[in-house]
Amino acid sequence: MKLTILGKYGPFPKAEGGTSSYLLEGENTKILFDVGTGSLSSLEKYAKVEELDGIILSHSHYDHVSDLGVYHYRYENLSRSGKAFKKPVVAFYNDGSPSLYIAETSPYFDREQLEDGKKLLLGEFEIEVFEMKHPVKSFGFKLTDGKKTFAYTGDTNVCVNLEKLAFGVDALLADGAFLYKDWAENKPHLSAKHVCEIALKIGCKAIISHLIPNYNEEEYLSEIKSCGAENNVFLAAEGKTYTI
Ligand SMILES: [Zn+2]
Ligand SMILES: [Zn+2]
Repeated sequence: MKLTILGKYGPFPKAEGGTSSYLLEGENTKILFDVGTGSLSSLEKYAKVEELDGIILSHSHYDHVSDLGVYHYRYENLSRSGKAFKKPVVAFYNDGSPSLYIAETSPYFDREQLEDGKKLLLGEFEIEVFEMKHPVKSFGFKLTDGKKTFAYTGDTNVCVNLEKLAFGVDALLADGAFLYKDWAENKPHLSAKHVCEIALKIGCKAIISHLIPNYNEEEYLSEIKSCGAENNVFLAAEGKTYTI
């Protein structure tokens, strides 16, 4: 399977950048994890919306769902042109946030409600859902095609499910938004150091994402190096495709 980073920033983008959005492609299946700002314009470089099987939303914060409205318009446009397309399954937890209104109401989406422990089947992917720790209900996902296993943390701080999510994966895409010096137990994100520790413990590759634009990327890189994780852990790069 292949992972392409469409947007790596949070909670807002840098110039030319986007917020959380990731394209995961298997042999016959294409899925988006989160659709933050800039997601659709970035996706257009790699895939067509009519090829998407699913759009999985980790939680209701705008940096993860803000492009969903323009995806709706894009499907509406396809529908009006008479072009055949498959409806994507939009999987989310409806916490009543206005940011999810279009997820709940668009006629161009099929819907799945997320809950801890649920298993979703999308094409050749089996996806297990884990509730994570964030100020709003937020989920992480462990996905397998039977050959390789990949997990995405969504937004989270340290929690019991984090290690369960990461256990046995080949690659982990993780919220490592904070430098450790700015991290605290009551904050909404992990630090880069936490991601390094879990990658070293599990023995998997990890990609740190949800980068905060105010930091210099060199600061993340030196935190990775100080953990001795520079061979396992990488910083997300927009437009980069990783083979898992
Ligand atoms: Zn976020
Ligand atoms: Zn969030």
